[in-house]
Amino acid sequence: MKSAEEFDAVIVGSGAGGGTMAFGLTRKKMRVLILEAGPRFNPFEDYKLAEETWEQQGFPHKPESEGRQTFAELQEIGPELDDLQSWNAVAGRTNPTKRRSPHKYHHVRGVGGSTLAFTGESHRLHPDAMQMKTRFGVAADWPVDYKTLEPFYSEAERIIGVAGPENPGARWRSEPYPLPAHAPGFPSQKLKAGAEQLGYQWDQNSRAALSKPYHGRPNCNYCANCNRGCPRTDKGSVDVTFLRKSEATGLCTIRTGVTVLRIEAGEDDRVKGVHVIDEEGTSEFIPTRRLVVSCGAVETPRLLFASGIGNESGQVGKNFMETIAWTSSGLHTENLGSYRGLPGDSICWDFNAPDAIGDGVVGGVRFSTGVGEAALNGPTAYARRVVGGWGESHKKRMREVFGHVLSVGSIGESLPNPGSFIDLDPEQKDANGIPLARIHSHLGEGELKRLDFMAKTAREILKASGVTELVEEYGSLSHFSATHVFGTCRMGENPDDSVVDEFGRSHRWKNLQIMDASVFPSSGGGESPSLTIEALALRAAAGGG
Ligand SMILES: Cc1cc2nc3c(=O)[nH]c(=O)nc-3n(C[C@H](O)[C@H](O)[C@H](O)COP(=O)(O)OP(=O)(O)OC[C@H]3O[C@@H](n4cnc5c(N)ncnc54)[C@H](O)[C@@H]3O)c2cc1C
Ligand code: SF4
Repeated sequence: MKSAEEFDAVIVGSGAGGGTMAFGLTRKKMRVLILEAGPRFNPFEDYKLAEETWEQQGFPHKPESEGRQTFAELQEIGPELDDLQSWNAVAGRTNPTKRRSPHKYHHVRGVGGSTLAFTGESHRLHPDAMQMKTRFGVAADWPVDYKTLEPFYSEAERIIGVAGPENPGARWRSEPYPLPAHAPGFPSQKLKAGAEQLGYQWDQNSRAALSKPYHGRPNCNYCANCNRGCPRTDKGSVDVTFLRKSEATGLCTIRTGVTVLRIEAGEDDRVKGVHVIDEEGTSEFIPTRRLVVSCGAVETPRLLFASGIGNESGQVGKNFMETIAWTSSGLHTENLGSYRGLPGDSICWDFNAPDAIGDGVVGGVRFSTGVGEAALNGPTAYARRVVGGWGESHKKRMREVFGHVLSVGSIGESLPNPGSFIDLDPEQKDANGIPLARIHSHLGEGELKRLDFMAKTAREILKASGVTELVEEYGSLSHFSATHVFGTCRMGENPDDSVVDEFGRSHRWKNLQIMDASVFPSSGGGESPSLTIEALALRAAAGGG
């Protein structure tokens, strides 16, 4: 083990932000130490999709691979919003109370962070979604524009091996995707036909899943279980892409099971180092010349609060944006074999621009095929959510409908509002005595309008695609359930209203950088965030001092 002084930079967290920073810094011949609270996962041993019990759990978490958070009381739901309540054919309403219920901040603590469980949709932001303040008077403008970020998007796509379509739509490209798009599965073919009847364009999605062998990784086998961890390593999670390449240089050391408890301030507006504790309970102070904090949009503000550092603007923890999501699922007349295939292999971008919905609704949305992400791909899920009852009639119905589920998933813009923020829980602490992050979430009028549009359009597309009976609907009104979180240390030019600059550098602390989803000034209209985090990190590592 090298001593801490031998490293040029210490990175806290090894997810989309931290793992990519490690790649960018080691490429500059810098020696990097990553402190990762979670464990390493071995795709060939830990993701047990070939075992009979494959469906019993989601992502196969290990001890310490999930952090704890608490929730402040969520908002009441009036009866006028009944149409947006979540339900399924077996359980009925999934939240029978009169308030939104806190389901989960979905994440993974481990080498590769939350990308270990991600689906692998690989999106660039719509260029107009980066100027929400100037164009629409909401959120904040990005201090970097699409043109500046474009070469870094292309580079991230090359490192990952993104498979995508030829037509770039609103997101112009300087080069084609490194790999051809995946052929659409049966569910996507049905949705395309249905959407086109309605006048919508339904395209192949850009995916961090290999359509051909690439950089020593095999192509996808269409097992439909990206969210349970990819056992083949073709999914472009950060552990098998950016981090694998970083470690191969010999310049990147990853310490797992090491939690950073506090950042210590030094002289001259510089941070001195971090206080950590490892799995054995051993405490240590690690000094550093350069500190990169990449703990994700919930844990990064927690660490800054716990350290009393970085909140000169008062913006840390504010502007929290979550996943505004809706999925409608129904039974198709034909057996589509929808338990297999690449999740999210097709998408509709028609309503993704910030002004595309119309009727004064600001912020876009997208629609995509959703069976895999809804985890409606195994018999247990069918029995719990689609086909009720017991005995012979249950078995008969299961045989009739298994493989028939077709889903449209939708994600929409989440705009900052004063009711959505992260602070420290005044009572609950973790085992190390550090207060837990507390999530405050409020859906504003715009979010409710977008959800309404998402639900109505999803149902309309399903119907046009041959679905005769809805069996489940799940959305953000009934439950806080976020896989994409953003905005709690936003970047900007003005130190009075932002935490970091365009390279993630703290406006005050000269050797402190923040690089993860917390720096987003706005969320985009349903684009998945990892590729943008990675492009920002490549740029920050290349040019950010
Ligand atoms: C089920 C699921 C599906 C998703 N699907 C997609 C998708 O299709 N496409 C997409 O682009 N995105 C998707 N996402 C979102 C994507 O994974 C995240 O947006 C992205 O990983 C966020 O990157 P990050 O660097 O901000 O944080 P993370 O990737 O969460 O990494 C943070 C890391 O910091 C570590 N850490 C936290 N606190 C400490 C501490 N105090 N000390 C040491 N280490 C610490 C954590 O252990 C973790 O490894 C999905 C996420 C989930 C959960
Ligand atoms: S569908 Fe493809 S990318 Fe997803 S887990 Fe299976 S093999 Fe991996």
